[in-house]
Amino acid sequence: STEKQTHGFQAEVSRLLNLMIHSLYSNREIFLRELVSNASDACDKLRFKALDDASLAESAGEPAITLSVDKDAGTLSVSDNGIGMDEAEVIENLGTIARSGTEKFLASLSGDQKKDSQLIGQFGVGFYSAFIVADRVTVESRKAGEGVDTGVRWESDGQGEFTVERIERTEPGTSVILHLRDDAKAFLDPFKLRQVVNQYSDHVAFPIRLVTPANGDEEASEETLNSATALWQRPKGEISDDEYQSFYKHISHDFQDAQTWSHNKVEGKLEYTSLLYIPARAPFDLYHRDASRGLKLYVQRVFIMDDAEQFMPQYLRFIKGVVDAPNLPLNVSRELLQDYGPVRKIRAALTKRVLQMLKKLGNDEEQYPAFWAQFGQVLKEGIGEDPDNRDAIAALLRFASSSQEEGLTSLDTYLERKPPEQDKIYYLLADTASAARQSPHLEVFRKKGIEVLLLSDPVDEWMISYLDSYKDVKLVNAARGELDLDEQNDVDQDNPLVARLKASLAEDVETVRATQRLVDSPSCLVLAEDQLGPQMRRMLEAAGQ
Ligand code: ADP
Ligand code: MG
Repeated sequence: STEKQTHGFQAEVSRLLNLMIHSLYSNREIFLRELVSNASDACDKLRFKALDDASLAESAGEPAITLSVDKDAGTLSVSDNGIGMDEAEVIENLGTIARSGTEKFLASLSGDQKKDSQLIGQFGVGFYSAFIVADRVTVESRKAGEGVDTGVRWESDGQGEFTVERIERTEPGTSVILHLRDDAKAFLDPFKLRQVVNQYSDHVAFPIRLVTPANGDEEASEETLNSATALWQRPKGEISDDEYQSFYKHISHDFQDAQTWSHNKVEGKLEYTSLLYIPARAPFDLYHRDASRGLKLYVQRVFIMDDAEQFMPQYLRFIKGVVDAPNLPLNVSRELLQDYGPVRKIRAALTKRVLQMLKKLGNDEEQYPAFWAQFGQVLKEGIGEDPDNRDAIAALLRFASSSQEEGLTSLDTYLERKPPEQDKIYYLLADTASAARQSPHLEVFRKKGIEVLLLSDPVDEWMISYLDSYKDVKLVNAARGELDLDEQNDVDQDNPLVARLKASLAEDVETVRATQRLVDSPSCLVLAEDQLGPQMRRMLEAAGQ
């Protein structure tokens, strides 16, 4: 149809728009990063599609992103000659938010500007950030490979509705035209644009051009604002921290700086370059089954796919980054990646790389607790999932401990602290660390000055069942069966009280034992050696078993 149609934004979009415009006001310039990032993605996608159909790339020309200002009209446009969108895609992509966790995210917003801007940033602002600086946004697009008359114009003032109409468009790709608000006219100034591109988008692998038309005495001009080489291909020493951080934001859609990263080029038979980041904060959808995970895959700098999950194990799904594997076939598919020898090897190497990065971070007493609070629970899945790296993962674990009121301890610290004659690592499972601290099971350990690790995460019982020992020292549940430190033999089991209790509790317990385990409490319940603990039982019940 050629008629203009009016559509309503999905309710979530309207809410996000409203909140975003207010919360991100002081961070306005990020809109440019988001639009350039989309333009760069679009060029990546076209280059990928052109692997099958070379005519697509020929008709589009060299990929590039163009910023142009029209001072008289008060507009700034961000254009690309990338993949473009057809009408249905425009309506879908620029009218809805298709992300798991959106509802939870919106519910978490408080109305407090400062907190909300953090959360919105974490969620990712994307295209809609255009409305922070524009009171009207026009998008014109044509999908690469489709006819001139399939162009589409989308327009909105961000107030709940948008219009869509068919247009003729000679060149494929997309232009986003921002009708700048009065207080955002600074973005018409080439100096300002240069500065913002420099700050946020210098790493973009395609040229970003700034076009200024003739204006009065000023002549028309065109300049390229960035170096336009794939960042991961540049030598480490030439890349500044700021460049690494802005590249991170481009690939992760995160708003905050990454906590740390590791950039490596591996030569030889299994050649690849990787740039892996540990985010500072967990995304909203970390526990969503269908959340995006994995790395961005390139083959010889050609973008192949997002979310290539075959390069990272599940328990490292929070890692963001890029892997460029020049020896993979350009037409590699997800199915092929699944079972491909070289991919498995790269994944094993990247896994080791991340664990090394975490080991190093583990020495940082300020940063590691922050990492652990965000991602520790996910990392614990690795103890069960990745037997090959179990020791390395175990070294990264942190636990509350009976020997310290605050903070967390590692298994290595436990081993350093324990007296040489103690040949076990003791732990206690409970619903919370404070419940564990009050447990009667701890009494005898306290009396004897033996440290007990206090495990209270829902995954802990499952995890610890995979961790028999650490550095050849057995891990032992302090609440189970008989403990050698009970000095069991000294206790008279034939005492008449025990016999009476056994008789009257016969329905409820397996046995009753006299013990020296208790100091202040008269009695406590212990699990038999082979019995499932309460956390595990609950987990299995929840899973319907
Ligand atoms: P994201 O980039 O995280 O997917 P955005 O809100 O930035 O989210 O963009 C939404 C979608 O709109 C993109 O996934 C893409 O499909 C589409 N899109 C946005 N800008 C462009 C563009 N310049 N060219 C082609 N598609 C685009
Ligand atoms: Mg985007």
